Amino acid sequence: SLSLRDVHLAFGRNQVLRGVDLDVARGATACVIGPSGSGKSTLLRTVNRLLEPDRGDVLLDGRSVLGDDPDALRQRVGMVFQQFNLFPHMSVLRNITLALRRIRKLGEDEAVAVARTHLDRVGLAAKADARPAHLSGGQQQRVAIARALAMQPQVMLFDEATSALDPELVKGVLAVLADLSAQGMTMVVVTHEMGFAREVADQVAFMDAGVVLEAGEPGAVFEAARHPRLRRFLSQVL
Ligand code: ATP
Ligand code: MG
Repeated sequence: SLSLRDVHLAFGRNQVLRGVDLDVARGATACVIGPSGSGKSTLLRTVNRLLEPDRGDVLLDGRSVLGDDPDALRQRVGMVFQQFNLFPHMSVLRNITLALRRIRKLGEDEAVAVARTHLDRVGLAAKADARPAHLSGGQQQRVAIARALAMQPQVMLFDEATSALDPELVKGVLAVLADLSAQGMTMVVVTHEMGFAREVADQVAFMDAGVVLEAGEPGAVFEAARHPRLRRFLSQVL
C-alpha cells in the first residue's frame, strides 16, 4: 500500500502541496485528476523522492520512505512521464537491459530474457531490435513502461503518460495500463482520460489547490460529486 499523510511542499513562497492525504491499497489503481497547476505532478514526485516534502510523510507498506536511499526507493517505485526519455542511439532491447545490468546487476543473458518478457507484456516483442526513432510515440511509451516494469517495482506512477500522444495512439497505451491494473499492480495514474479513470480506477482523487479535495470510487466521484469545485471541473472535462 501507498499512503501520503499531510504532505506539504512549497517552491519558495509558492505553497504547492498543502496537506495531501491519499491511501492506495496494495493492488489498487488510483487515478488523480484535477486542474493544471493543482500539484498532481508535484505529488507524484514526492513519492519517489524527486522532491522532498517540507512536512508530512510518504509510506510504502506502512513504512516511511523519507529515510530511504533515493536510488533504492526508485527501484521500488517506477515512474513513467509524458516524455518517454528513451536513449535514441540504443535499440529498444538495450534501453531495457541497461538498467537491468547496472542496477539489478543481471548478467547479459538474463537481462535480455527479462527485457523480452516485459516487451512481450506491452505487445512489442517484435520491436526489440528497432531504434526508438523508428517507433510510434505510443510504442515508445510502451517501451518506457516495459523498462519501468523490468525493475520489478512495487508501485508504478504515471504522469500524463498519454498526453503527448496523437489521439489514435492513446488507446494502445491505456490498454497496457488497464492490463497492468487488472494484474494487480499498485498504481497512481495522473490522467486527463476520464473514461479510463471511470472504467479502470478503484479510486479517483480530485486535486485542487494542493489538496485532495475529494476521493472515492469512480461512480461516487463522477456521478455524485459533493464539492462544487469538482462538479465544475467535471462539467468542463466531460
Ligand atoms: P498540470 O496538469 O499542468 O501538469 P500539475 O497539477 O501537475 O499541473 P504541478 O506541476 O505539480 O501541477 O505544479 C504545481 C505548481 O508548482 C505550479 O504553480 C508550478 O508552477 C509549481 N512548480 C512545479 N514544479 C516546480 C519547480 N520545479 N520549481 C518551481 N515551481 C514549480
Ligand atoms: Mg503535471
